[in-house]
Amino acid sequence: MSNHLSERINNMSTSATLAMAAKARELRNEGKDIIGLSLGEPDFNIPDFVKEAAKEAVDQNYSSYSPVDGYADLKKAISNKFKRDNNLDYGIDQIVVSTGAKQSLANVAMVMLNKGDEVILPAPFWVSYSDIVKIAEGVPVQVPTSIDTDFKMTPEQLEQAITPKTKMLWFSSPCNPSGSVYSKEELEGLAVVLRKHPGIFVVSDEIYEHINFVGGHVSIAGIAGMYERTITVNGVSKAFAMTGWRIGYIGAAPYIAKACTKFQGQITSGANAIGQRATIAALEAPVNKIQFMIDEFHKRRDLVLSLLGEIEGFKLNVPEGAFYVFPDISSFFGKSLNGTAINNASDLAMYLLEEANVATVTGEAFGNPNCIRISYAASEKELKEAIARIKAVL
Ligand code: PMP
Ligand code: GLU
Repeated sequence: MSNHLSERINNMSTSATLAMAAKARELRNEGKDIIGLSLGEPDFNIPDFVKEAAKEAVDQNYSSYSPVDGYADLKKAISNKFKRDNNLDYGIDQIVVSTGAKQSLANVAMVMLNKGDEVILPAPFWVSYSDIVKIAEGVPVQVPTSIDTDFKMTPEQLEQAITPKTKMLWFSSPCNPSGSVYSKEELEGLAVVLRKHPGIFVVSDEIYEHINFVGGHVSIAGIAGMYERTITVNGVSKAFAMTGWRIGYIGAAPYIAKACTKFQGQITSGANAIGQRATIAALEAPVNKIQFMIDEFHKRRDLVLSLLGEIEGFKLNVPEGAFYVFPDISSFFGKSLNGTAINNASDLAMYLLEEANVATVTGEAFGNPNCIRISYAASEKELKEAIARIKAVL
């Protein structure tokens, strides 16, 4: 029946992260003992002080439509957060609160891109960037990087990818899926190229800013010449384990913020009222309230690297942030494992799901077909068991 549907939806891929999580859920329902390392979702509970704020908001009857761009006091809290954590000055007319950073990204694509505009995506990139760009009739231009350069795009690669049609560059740092963190010097290198092309805008997805093991997150908007044309995207899903509460936001030039508000006003209206009230508490709290999560992720990263390092054929780098490892597993291609032919990363991810009952995500979905993504947002016990199973079937 798909011929009754629009070309738009027929041409769109299903989110590979969500698809793998759904598949794992389905197998679990069938009684299989699946360990899910596919979804980028903190396994902590929302901090109590955030829950309290949400409960209060329910009692205070925050039940009406909220302003499309977010409550004014939430936008003030976001403005203060940008200043405190990123030394960025975004006034409240420059902030738009949305239903997750995913919607923030979709808003930006819809208000910035015309048909055929090119968007540079250093690969690997977060799974949804490419389809969000395409739905806005933009053209994703992948710039491949490899594990040998820690999956980072160099200024030379950026320069080479730019054409007269380039409208934007989208990237995340810390990066999902590679965990790579761009240093200030590396961002300055990219800015040197971008300053030569004043018409190119940047989406800087900073949703993992706090999950950074080298310390000192750097926002590209703070680099000379970048502020006016950077859209800084962030949210509370990762830092505060609030994935299901669906609150994300942007800081951008006032005219971009206004356009996003106009678009959102026709599509979804203001984001969830209770989630917004809870987000005020989350963002006003000192960052040290979530330090325990960051320390725990750091510990798990080291554990996962050391255990995966024992598996022959896994090539690893040392991710400096987020909660993913992105091993290059191309040494298995062309081989047969227990009778299953492994020709690409999707084959390997499927083999691990079926034979080891461990859910990971193929790197193809992130623009790197040599790798798989393993999320270590799981307990130490699960991680040890999952990697032992992977080792056994390989
Ligand atoms: N950007 C990146 C890099 C992500 O990993 C995610 C994962 N959820 C998002 C954006 C979207 O986050 P959310 O919509 O939950 O705020
Ligand atoms: N961003 C997370 C991930 O990459 C959550 C899933 C999603 O929104 O796609 O796994």
